[in-house]
Amino acid sequence: MTDPRRTSSPDSNETSHPETTADATVVWKELMYEAGRRSRAEVELFLTTFLGACQAQGWSDLEALRRLVALEDPDLYRAIVTGRLPESFPEALQVLWSDFVCRWPARRAVSDVAAASRTGPLRAGEWVLLMDAKGRRYLTRLEPGQNFTFHLGSVPMDTLIGQTEGTAVRSSKGHTLLVFRPTLRDYLLQMPRHAQVVYPKDSAVMAMWGDLYPGARVLEAGLGSGALAMVILRAIGPTGRLVSYEIRADFIRRAMRNIERWLGYVPENHEIHHEDIARAQVEPGSFDRVFLDLPTPTDGLAVATGALRPGGILVSISPTVPQVQETVEWLRASNLYGSIEVLEVLVRPWNVRGPSVRPAHFMVAHTAFIVVARRLRPGQTFVDDVYI
Ligand code: SAH
Repeated sequence: MTDPRRTSSPDSNETSHPETTADATVVWKELMYEAGRRSRAEVELFLTTFLGACQAQGWSDLEALRRLVALEDPDLYRAIVTGRLPESFPEALQVLWSDFVCRWPARRAVSDVAAASRTGPLRAGEWVLLMDAKGRRYLTRLEPGQNFTFHLGSVPMDTLIGQTEGTAVRSSKGHTLLVFRPTLRDYLLQMPRHAQVVYPKDSAVMAMWGDLYPGARVLEAGLGSGALAMVILRAIGPTGRLVSYEIRADFIRRAMRNIERWLGYVPENHEIHHEDIARAQVEPGSFDRVFLDLPTPTDGLAVATGALRPGGILVSISPTVPQVQETVEWLRASNLYGSIEVLEVLVRPWNVRGPSVRPAHFMVAHTAFIVVARRLRPGQTFVDDVYI
């Protein structure tokens, strides 16, 4: 099978030029399948009809396909979600495309999907978390006819499908496994990652200190593996909007896949830009919150500051002290922020069993520091800041 990713090598600007229509069609179908999670039959139908319409506009199949295939994945996802092709495509094709995307089988409303997937009996295709007697956790997807296999035996997935969460099952070697739907925290710790992700202990505090609320407009850089983005998306809900910047195309693809695998759909309120945050064009004061997770936080601070409305909150996370120092110095020198706070989050698990009631022997000692600051109104000069 042709590797659908070969058309958008992340770190180069290479654009593939399929030699023949057949070649281009294979690549295109794979991309559409990945992007839209449509069935192959649907993609086939879409393609045939779309090509017919292209020809009616005087476009040859190959030319149209070449241009579509050359799109980066994020552009393709966006084109499908928004119904708009990138601006370089001619008007006539734009109209055709938006027509097609509108008439294509509608995605289910975000709220329906979210509610339906969190309750009731476990369904085929869902993620489940299996826990053994030692508390080890295994994240797996329920596939009819398959077995879940681990070092203590295996369990047929058919015995899990239709079960109620919280049920205990026995493995072929007689070991007990508890089955639950995973929490977002479980998923974030187990999903495939590229970059270092924001740990749940930190994102939990960032969401509260950053005062995320349903409907909030949030700017984020960098997207990384999408761990923080998932926490933000959950907190702002379907009425909120998240705009993420990320310089690495391969990270964008991974993040999109992670998010889609978790939610079961591509969230329409998540816009992703494959661009350096320092060069982002953002309407002044158009965001309520900005979340930065950058190796050089100061790269994002000018844009963040322009983007935040008065009273808006900046939350920046960094693993090292010099990053924190530079961030705070930048914020203070800008004269545009008040209430600058710096903190770290230590979570110490406890062991409670019989008389042994004590902190656990091991804990995660360090992940990152969090800087939180509030944007002043224009013209207001800096007053004071706060340290916890
Ligand atoms: N918050 C993410 C992890 C981000 S890691 C998560 O929870 O999964 C930092 C990311 O910032 C990396 O993916 C890196 O590619 C990206 N990055 C670095 N400099 C950038 C810049 N100037 N603009 C946008 N993204 C940037």
